[in-house]
Amino acid sequence: MDPRGFPTTLPEFQCVFPDDGACARYLEKLRWPDGFACPRCGHTGEPYRFPKRSSVVLRCRACQRNISLTASTAMQSSHTSLSMWFWGAYLVTTQTPGQSALQFQRQLGISRYETAFQMLHKLRAGMVRPERDAIGGQYPVEVDETLVGGRTRGEGRGIHHKATVVGAVEVRRRREGEDRAATSHQDHAEGKPLKRMKYAGRLRLRLLAGRDADGLTAFVKENVTHGSVVRTDGWQGYDGLPTMGYLHEPLVLGGNPDIADAHLPMIHIVFSNLKTWLLGTHHGVSQQHLQAYLNEYVFRFNRRFYPMTAFNSVLGLAAHSIPPTYDALYTGDWIHPAA
Ligand SMILES: [Zn+2]
Repeated sequence: MDPRGFPTTLPEFQCVFPDDGACARYLEKLRWPDGFACPRCGHTGEPYRFPKRSSVVLRCRACQRNISLTASTAMQSSHTSLSMWFWGAYLVTTQTPGQSALQFQRQLGISRYETAFQMLHKLRAGMVRPERDAIGGQYPVEVDETLVGGRTRGEGRGIHHKATVVGAVEVRRRREGEDRAATSHQDHAEGKPLKRMKYAGRLRLRLLAGRDADGLTAFVKENVTHGSVVRTDGWQGYDGLPTMGYLHEPLVLGGNPDIADAHLPMIHIVFSNLKTWLLGTHHGVSQQHLQAYLNEYVFRFNRRFYPMTAFNSVLGLAAHSIPPTYDALYTGDWIHPAA
């Protein structure tokens, strides 16, 4: 369980969402944290619940209207059960790397591939919206570009359609106290990996036609806060950054990959993991769909410390966006007795 009460293991998840009823109560609690209020007539008394049905509908006792708990969510009008959707959202947002439709179908035990494909498609739709707020500010930002892809299916040997992807990632530092804790770890020489002092903050990725200055500087301008420290390699495409108001820190000794890695460690790790994910999970991706996959990667990356935010987003629950109420899962009276 993470500090905010979100299940971080499959057994915990099973405990929190054991059945469709528990999922329905979660949806209800998220939408009406202070108790049901009819969206039609404003009535605030307890609604009527249908004990025999799969409980996605509540009926207002005053105006007798039915209110669907899944309206305007990813689950709207679906024949798939709530618990299946919840499992799916959990897998999509917490598994690294993300799921292919076939893996997804197998893990959930869904009989039809088409059902798995459509669920996955709807859950992913919540991930592919571009993130618009600028990164950087107090944090330095590493910017670099890489080639993604290569020989795609159906193309002959020697024909390469590589795509240029530019990325920007914040370099953050752990706080003082955490640094000390990390240092003390060094004393326990038990083969425990050392906690890194620096870690990657928010990420942005964009597909470009090439690595010319216009595309690169436009990307920085649209994604990185004006005035931020921006670290790049020595490529001339970034030469315009100082006049645009950035504190540019280019790598002066170009050519040596080791030196470049030391100057831009975070974005190189991001690129490496991105390529592994694209190849391993999706067996390569056509350029036509690459930006959507980049957005999905960015979505998961930026929420890796906030799994419940990601979980709610892919289910389309962000619209009802009440601050997280996962604690209620353990303190509220609506917990399934078995939990
Ligand atoms: Zn009503």
